[in-house]
Amino acid sequence: MIEEPWWEAARRQRLLLQSCTACGHPQHYPRALCTRCGSTELSWVEASGRGIVDSYTVVHRSPFPDHEAPYVVARVRLAEGPVLLTNLVGGLTWSCDEPVRLAWRDGLPVFAKERDGL
Ligand SMILES: [Zn+2]
Repeated sequence: MIEEPWWEAARRQRLLLQSCTACGHPQHYPRALCTRCGSTELSWVEASGRGIVDSYTVVHRSPFPDHEAPYVVARVRLAEGPVLLTNLVGGLTWSCDEPVRLAWRDGLPVFAKERDGL
């Protein structure tokens, strides 16, 4: 499975990106091909964990009874370039281009305000 190294790293709270060894393009999520040049020569690199809020929305109605609302769904643009669809934690007040840093919740990468410690 292409994504197995990603999940293995996530279990250790490390966020991996793919990096194309032909053209250097970083990408997330894991794929079989480079989305820029089509090369299948991809390596893994650890993300810095820094990023900015690209876009977000506050969801007030929970899709499941045991899923607490409100919560924040966001696109976060990593410092390396790729964009993740993720959650923002630590509040409901955000702004686009706000710096965020990687946190982990329930084994998945989420993002918190850069200035907050979780
Ligand atoms: Zn490439």
